[in-house]
Amino acid sequence: MSDNNKLVLNSLKINPKGLTAYKILNLLQKSKSIQPMTVYRALKNLTKNGLIHKTNKNKTFHLCNTVHVCNTTEAHEHNAVLAVCNDCGVAEELKTDLFSKAIKNIKSKKRFNFNNFNLEITTTCKECY
Ligand SMILES: [Zn+2]
Ligand SMILES: [Zn+2]
Repeated sequence: MSDNNKLVLNSLKINPKGLTAYKILNLLQKSKSIQPMTVYRALKNLTKNGLIHKTNKNKTFHLCNTVHVCNTTEAHEHNAVLAVCNDCGVAEELKTDLFSKAIKNIKSKKRFNFNNFNLEITTTCKECY
């Protein structure tokens, strides 16, 4: 794994509430001169490998919590299911394969591939309920 990928992973590790690409860039630029493109490339790469996930609602990136990413550099592709709070924006990756099973059975006219999907459930967390 490249150093830049590691830096991005670490910034997310210490910010469990998630960070936008812009905040990650700001954070890393405090200790290193790093180009926005470098950060975006790292985010794209880590997302593709399933090590981080992005919420559509908040545009924040989160460390995948189904694997100890600090110890692995291997791609970890899986169907991420994120729950995001409508009020405070807290996100949690749900450890479930329930949706994988259900979604694979959906008939699609456009022949979408349901082997690899991301699902985001926007709802209300316990704190805001
Ligand atoms: Zn994950
Ligand atoms: Zn909340």
